[in-house]
Amino acid sequence: MLDTLDLAVVIALALAAAYYFGKDYFIKSDEASSAGFVAHGAEQSRDLIATLKKNNKNAVVFFGSQTGTAEDYATKLSKELHSKFGLRVLNADLADFDYDNLLDLDPDYLVFFVVATYGEGEPTDNAVEFFNWLDNDADQMANLKYTVFSLGNSTYEFFNAVGIKLNEKLESLGAESFAPYGQGDDGVGTMDEDFLAWKEQCFDSLKNNLNFEEKELVYEPSFELEELSSKSALDEGVSNGEPNKKYVEGTTDLSRGPFDHTHPYLAPISYTKELFKSSDRSCVHVEFDTSASNLKYTTGDHLAVWPSNPDEKVDAFIKCFALEAKRNAVFKLKSLDSTVHVPFPTPITYEAVIRHHMEISGPISRQALMSIASFAPNPEVKTKCVELGSDRAKFAQEIHSKFYNLADALLKISAGVPWSNVPFVFLIELIASLQPRYYSISSSASTEKSKIHITAVVEAEEKDGVLVTGVATNLLKNVEVAQNGKNDSLVCNYDLNGPSNKFSKFKLPVHVRRSTFKLPSNPSTPIILVGPGTGVAPMRGFIRERVNLLKKGEGVRLGKTLLFYGCRNNADYLYQDEWPVYSEALGETFEMEVALSREDPNKKVYVQDKIKARAKEIDSLIQDGAFIYVCGDASRMARDVQSTFAKILSEQRDISIEKATELVKSMKVQNRYQEDVW
Ligand code: FAD
Repeated sequence: MLDTLDLAVVIALALAAAYYFGKDYFIKSDEASSAGFVAHGAEQSRDLIATLKKNNKNAVVFFGSQTGTAEDYATKLSKELHSKFGLRVLNADLADFDYDNLLDLDPDYLVFFVVATYGEGEPTDNAVEFFNWLDNDADQMANLKYTVFSLGNSTYEFFNAVGIKLNEKLESLGAESFAPYGQGDDGVGTMDEDFLAWKEQCFDSLKNNLNFEEKELVYEPSFELEELSSKSALDEGVSNGEPNKKYVEGTTDLSRGPFDHTHPYLAPISYTKELFKSSDRSCVHVEFDTSASNLKYTTGDHLAVWPSNPDEKVDAFIKCFALEAKRNAVFKLKSLDSTVHVPFPTPITYEAVIRHHMEISGPISRQALMSIASFAPNPEVKTKCVELGSDRAKFAQEIHSKFYNLADALLKISAGVPWSNVPFVFLIELIASLQPRYYSISSSASTEKSKIHITAVVEAEEKDGVLVTGVATNLLKNVEVAQNGKNDSLVCNYDLNGPSNKFSKFKLPVHVRRSTFKLPSNPSTPIILVGPGTGVAPMRGFIRERVNLLKKGEGVRLGKTLLFYGCRNNADYLYQDEWPVYSEALGETFEMEVALSREDPNKKVYVQDKIKARAKEIDSLIQDGAFIYVCGDASRMARDVQSTFAKILSEQRDISIEKATELVKSMKVQNRYQEDVW
């Protein structure tokens, strides 16, 4: 036992070390309750002005986020605005407020918007209502001082449409922009850099135009972590990484929804199959059994799969931050502001957080490197870290192009010396929450009423001598190998039993996300389906639906189904044995064209080539009211396919390419040209 004097010496040493190693980020946990940003909790008022006043805030960072990236940027921006400029920031989900308050907001408040564009230039789910309000109810907004950072992807047609629209709309309503509009491009991989560049401009405006003084960056935790030495991972009420509190408590019926991004269904996996025939690449077919739940879907929806991290990545992370001794220790996390949301259920073990709640595998950003530098194990490592973090080209060459994740990068920089000074709360705030991954459902809701099929290509590729792996797809591959009793070697290994063995016997948390990718209501409408690679997933669902319609319905008249599928060769030909069965059932109404891109070394054939080859018939199907569906790779395929359809219309109807492009666009507006691309 330590006596009082020993304890005082230990504390003094710890404080000295913290100050020495972390001058820039000295932790002010005693000032905890003044933490500068708040994330709005679900139980809070929807009245923005009342919330700002009650919490003594003078700025808002709103986020419109689908996959968590915009939310992550917004959260970090909120913290930095507080640390550097003393702004008292409310970090707010756009869905959490009534917007009329924006019309009456005092001009002293600064409003930042960090918004992503989703799908066909649409707002993210949590921003839909806000944009409806902007379009229909927003009045003049001369009081509003705002700026916008927009997240988008230039491989999509409606690049950053949401941020651009927001900025223009606010301007047209008389709002005053206090810093330039900024946008990022995920399509060319520059999102982090674009965000940093915008942030710099934004901070310049705060300093130069609004006279804010920039302070030295001081890290202030948003949470207080308390270790519970008397508790163990086995104790009741302690989370081992369960998806939410209901799963920890186990007092509610977990088979009843609603199931969404806050509450998944723990679905048994009833069947898995490897679809590729070669051993170097893998694509798994997975069937989830929903019969014991009220989870419903319609054909064309998406399934969100909640992943966990593999053993190898968890171990490497623990080693990097010297957390071996704390692996199974239990702690609880207290939010330092009544409206801040604790990102996972606590009490919880360290390992459970790392395995189930942190995105530890993805690429590291320059900003992350800069912010963690002050916790470096020694001054030399700190200098190296700052050097890399402040030099864009050097960072790209030495970190980004090597595909390092956080632990890889830090250990590389420190030559293997563990980063034992980094507070775990800092890591919780730095690292994005592990997000569900979406999959286009490949079953038909009318055929498989209580099963959901997905088709996932496993991400594992050697790049520059580094094996880069995807989190969710390798988990699904692990399930497939274990469930089928195979001896295949795996590139990474997962704890398939899950928290407290709750995922044992092959279960995974999932929820359904409704999509707008839907068959025409009239079955006699012809459909043209373009689905190369795993893009064929929802097409399989559509075709199964049509087969079922024919089986069930007396005198059902089906329109033509023309499927364009593409793969490299016979080894990755998905569902090869199923298509003849569908063809047999649908008869003349079904036709399939297959583009094998690597079959002939002298000639690569893509789906676009196959589409072009049937130009005349396609034009006539479109004239007959055909719906077109495109699914798969957003970067090249979707664009090329769209311009192929435009070329066909131009040539067949003898109209200009511009007019034909407009025609395709108008088909999109009428929902007759639908895309499900990622
Ligand atoms: P992640 O862990 O998310 O990694 C993503 C990529 O980054 C991988 O290629 C990985 O290798 C790479 N990576 C990992 N670590 C690093 C690093 N340190 N540095 C650089 N790169 C790194 N996919 C399908 O297969 N089938 C579908 O039907 C399907 N439908 C979709 C529908 C929608 C609406 C959306 C949005 C996506 C869909 N996807 C589909 C894609 C899917 O959601 C996942 O993105 C994909 O499976 C990869 O997930 P993952 O967790 O395995 O990879």
